[in-house]
Amino acid sequence: MLDEIKGIGPKTILSLNSLGIYTLDDLLNYFPYRYNVLKPVSLSTASDDDQVLINGYIENPIKVFFIKKNLNKLSFKLNTGTELINVTIFNRAFIKPNLSVGKQISVLGKYNRKNNTFVANDIKLVPILRETIEPVYHLNAGLKRSSFIKIIDNALSKNYFVTNNIPDYLMNKYKFVDKMVAIKDIHKPINLQSIKDSKLMLIYEELFTFMLKMNYLKLNQKNVDEFYERMIKEEKVNKFIETLPFTLTNDQVNAIEEIKNDFNNPKRMNRLILGDVGSGKTIVAFIALYMNYITGYQGVMMAPTEILAKQHYENMINLFKNFDLKMELLTSSTLKKTRSDIIKRLASGDVDVLIGTHSVLNDEIIFKNLGLVVTDEQHRFGVNQRNMLQKKGRLSDVLYLSATPIPRTLALTLFGDMDITEIKSKPSNRKPIETKLFKNKDIKDVLFMMLDEIKKGHQIYVVAPLIEDENETGMETVKELKNKIDTAFNHKIPIDILHGKLKNKDKEEIMNNFKLNKTKILISTTVIEVGVDVKNATMMVIFNAERFGLATLHQLRGRIGRNDLESKCILISDYDTPRLKILEESNDGFYISEKDFELRGSGDLFGVKQSGDMDFKIANMKTDFKILQQCALDSKEFLENVDLNKYPIQKNIIDSISFMN
Ligand code: ADP
Ligand code: MG
Repeated sequence: MLDEIKGIGPKTILSLNSLGIYTLDDLLNYFPYRYNVLKPVSLSTASDDDQVLINGYIENPIKVFFIKKNLNKLSFKLNTGTELINVTIFNRAFIKPNLSVGKQISVLGKYNRKNNTFVANDIKLVPILRETIEPVYHLNAGLKRSSFIKIIDNALSKNYFVTNNIPDYLMNKYKFVDKMVAIKDIHKPINLQSIKDSKLMLIYEELFTFMLKMNYLKLNQKNVDEFYERMIKEEKVNKFIETLPFTLTNDQVNAIEEIKNDFNNPKRMNRLILGDVGSGKTIVAFIALYMNYITGYQGVMMAPTEILAKQHYENMINLFKNFDLKMELLTSSTLKKTRSDIIKRLASGDVDVLIGTHSVLNDEIIFKNLGLVVTDEQHRFGVNQRNMLQKKGRLSDVLYLSATPIPRTLALTLFGDMDITEIKSKPSNRKPIETKLFKNKDIKDVLFMMLDEIKKGHQIYVVAPLIEDENETGMETVKELKNKIDTAFNHKIPIDILHGKLKNKDKEEIMNNFKLNKTKILISTTVIEVGVDVKNATMMVIFNAERFGLATLHQLRGRIGRNDLESKCILISDYDTPRLKILEESNDGFYISEKDFELRGSGDLFGVKQSGDMDFKIANMKTDFKILQQCALDSKEFLENVDLNKYPIQKNIIDSISFMN
């Protein structure tokens, strides 16, 4: 239990919970996402652009300026023994009581020689005298880094037993460090090598566990060969297709064909549709649901968020208004009464298609005869959820949609248990999105372009990374951005903010206002969904673009260019990274993912937090692909050759996902 650990009170527990930490195990497995290597230097060798660590003592009383709400400045003179420099640091008014004249400290930041000023982003109250490696965690506002490090320290000192999912013979084969050593070293590294060794072990363990589940599902899939065949009446399907306001693309037609074959085949369908954003996967799913319906079965479609679920529901109602399908929407904000009514009607077979968030996985929800399960934005769902879904309708066909156009080799490993259909062609009415890189200093040009777009009656998405870590300054947060843009446009243009912390009801209202063109600019973090479809939005501006993975950026910009209008995507970054240029070059998600894969082919140990794709704690699909492939082999061999009863830990993992009773 978390509260057994010194330093964890009820308030801290809440903060930890919000990071997804509920148990001691979660805590120990909450890894740093990078490290600071701290080494004191003398001021004479500090160059203006580098982040440096300087030791000294405080020369004069501390001054604090409260500039405005959420912005304060603390400053003092630091005596380094040879020089006297002016140090300032923002938003640290709270440490003033800890800083007294004469106190020895370390300051971390940038020195400007000409002005003799030092802008610090961190102050160490216990000076750092020799090279130190300091872990950096993603934390939230309620939790300070120093307290978190203490908590981890206390947890480690408990010598708590952690399970290791790697079988002994593989531990020996690869000469991995012991799991407990790895956990200790990842949090409190002795040197860079110890980080490398422990990371390798932990990454392997994570990927081995993942591939063990995958391979288990794959091996067992083969055994589910129960007779489950239906004959689809083509005329009926075509009749619906004729009512569509557009012609299907070749790849859409092909995908529908493959699904039809799966239906007509006694083997259970387990198909993944991989298609770029905007390639029109939704309609393919709707047609699959329709085919399933006309053969007499119920269907369910799951989306990762309420916004998306609702959008699908509304779309489907609209497209099928002249067909007698009974559709319902079920999310966590569905009223209790409506909910229990829907549940009853599902059980009696009175609902044909249910659309919802993962709350449709709830045990209370029982279908009369579920024939098809569709999962949109499949990459958000883990193997466990994948399995739960299949469990719901033991005989139902399963269709996954994913907007992660990943290289085929990777897809085959990661989704080895599924058949894969790729949708590469885009609806022909689309104009490619024009993507351009800008630097912050040229922001005026961007603002003019935005104004132009709004004058044409169009709408704009602005995306910014929301950073809650302490220590990360200079990032545009959504609120700051709104102020800036408001000021730039004289408060004349309706702007809204959307982020993950808002209540569902508020999110919905904000989205709705944007859909209705009441708001012109929507500023958001990446929480707003890739699938969201507002056709009138023709421009996207992404701040601190270097913070995002290429796949994420590509998915984000897929929200624009959803019609025959010219669309622009502006990436703002002060870094010259070849990565971002790839987005300027191409609009093809598959090409981009291949390139990205090539570029980040190997070990960037201190790389930035990986975004999206798969929810691994420490492994990175791109940089750790070789390890993943090895784990695919090793776990397959393991399943084929060992007596599981002799491997209780691994058996446990498998039991936890097992749906074969
Ligand atoms: P995604 O594959 O990203 O989920 P959607 O299914 O949301 O893409 O489709 C994006 C938009 O393209 C929707 O507005 C949809 O109605 C439209 N669309 C889908 N297929 C076609 C097509 N063949 N021709 C024209 N527009 C299409
Ligand atoms: Mg979609």
